[in-house]
Amino acid sequence: MKIALIAHDKMKDDIIDFIKRYKDVFREHELYATGTTGRLINEILNLKVHRFLSGPLGGDQQVGAKIAEGNMDLVIFFRDPLTSQPHEPDVTGLLRLCDVHCIPVATNLGTAEVMIKALKNRVDI
Ligand code: PGA
Repeated sequence: MKIALIAHDKMKDDIIDFIKRYKDVFREHELYATGTTGRLINEILNLKVHRFLSGPLGGDQQVGAKIAEGNMDLVIFFRDPLTSQPHEPDVTGLLRLCDVHCIPVATNLGTAEVMIKALKNRVDI
């Protein structure tokens, strides 16, 4: 599966911890990420990741384009709900495209856990 990984700055430690815990699962899939998130996943966890631009510079929209083209299967997006983001319109657009195309999207750790456990157990998504 093609999985997009995105984390706002204050959530980056959380997404790294999460991916680390399920590294064996993530290793079996094709990973995509916004710029900084992808760099950290690659450097810290040594996983291969296709990197888009950084989120505020258009990376979220690049993920959205993949979804619109039918080239993304899952999105894990650890949003920071307590900090306003300069690229909030891009975030809203990305989530909208997930809904338009029925792409499962996890925006917090709880949902991401459910999603990854389904992948681990090879539940059809
Ligand atoms: P980043 O982008 O991975 O380049 O930090 C994430 C975002 O804020 O959308």
